[in-house]
Amino acid sequence: MIIKKIHARQVIDSKGYPTVECDAATDAGIFRAMVPSGASIGRHEAVELRDGGNAFFGKGVLKAVSNVNKIIAPKLIGRNCLEQEKIDRIMIELDGTENKSKLGANAILSVSAACCKAGAASLIVPLYKYIGKLAGNKEFVLPIPMMVFLEGGKHADHSTDLQEFMIMPVGANSFSQAVQYCVEVYHALKESLKSKGMNTSVGYEGAFSPRIGNEEAFELLVNAIEDAGYKPKSEIGIALDAAASELCKDGKYYFASEKRQLNSGEMIDFYDYLIEKYPIVSIEDGLGEDDWEAWIELNKRIGKKVQIIGDDLTVTNPQRLERAIKLGAINSILIKLNQIGSVTETANVIKMAKEKKLKVIVSHRSGETEDTFVADFAVGVGADQCKFGAPTRSERTAKYNQLLRIEEEIKSYKGFYD
Ligand code: PEP
Ligand code: MG
Repeated sequence: MIIKKIHARQVIDSKGYPTVECDAATDAGIFRAMVPSGASIGRHEAVELRDGGNAFFGKGVLKAVSNVNKIIAPKLIGRNCLEQEKIDRIMIELDGTENKSKLGANAILSVSAACCKAGAASLIVPLYKYIGKLAGNKEFVLPIPMMVFLEGGKHADHSTDLQEFMIMPVGANSFSQAVQYCVEVYHALKESLKSKGMNTSVGYEGAFSPRIGNEEAFELLVNAIEDAGYKPKSEIGIALDAAASELCKDGKYYFASEKRQLNSGEMIDFYDYLIEKYPIVSIEDGLGEDDWEAWIELNKRIGKKVQIIGDDLTVTNPQRLERAIKLGAINSILIKLNQIGSVTETANVIKMAKEKKLKVIVSHRSGETEDTFVADFAVGVGADQCKFGAPTRSERTAKYNQLLRIEEEIKSYKGFYD
């Protein structure tokens, strides 16, 4: 089906900052995509174009919007929306830079996702199935959710140094049961915080953000899991996103709340200690984005016991993933569409990761929108897990709710230990 119109505009994301929204029109209707935005952004991510200047504190995206309307749209109008790979290639070539700094990854991704939705509609198939076709995946399973319950770092005014304390319902038998486990623990945690006189206000992703010690966060999660009637580890595990690049300066990791600094080896010792003491099943960005040697050591030391996930390390980038695989630095990868900036490139990175038997976790950003594309994307590419925030706040629940709808069509749910 022919693309008749492409039109982008500036809208507002869940953090109250501008982002890009794009409409792609065909005879089947208007298909809309919105772009998310990170706070703890990896140094090696594709460039999110911002206007600078005074308006919106420099965070406007009118340049990116104009790049869609004036540069990209004229080259794509009249093309078939089913040609996803070609559409993405045209935009990559129009940009012509390594990191999409000319047109902006936010401009390109908005068009890429809108055209993808148009493609699914033109074939009258669910979006996840169409994405499966593009990604060469026929095995549709609901991903295990990784939900954040306590957040700190850049997501919550550094209430903790480590960024995200999540739970994974590893013992649930279906996606909807996994959601139930998480919701029950979330409310148990809220009650426990209240009973201790702690603050229950939330950070960017809907997780609680009391000012507590890093280790205290694990204690609170374990207690909440038990309060809700679940068994830590066998039914519900804990996942950590340290976002350690944010702690890292001159080769040292600073824990401001504890007034201590650790070197890479001491960080690895710290994780070794944590996984022995708490029911941790996964550690994301345990080390800085360029601390390669330490990543190799971390994966060697504890990679057989827990997931070692690269996020800022790998930034959904094929060259960085290739290096991580070659070095044995990770056993899992976090995938964020806007880190690389197009549907096709993201699907290709996932293919690479799956060929090497890495676990694939499809993720939102701390700045999100009501768009649920990423939920269909996670099922379409056959992701093992998804990370879409807390089970609260509509920009987060929109994604989980879309997975609950998809579950009515496909029941398959891969267990964590399968
Ligand atoms: C993350 O670090 O995994 C994350 C979702 O945060 P942000 O979007 O701020 O990078
Ligand atoms: Mg992360």
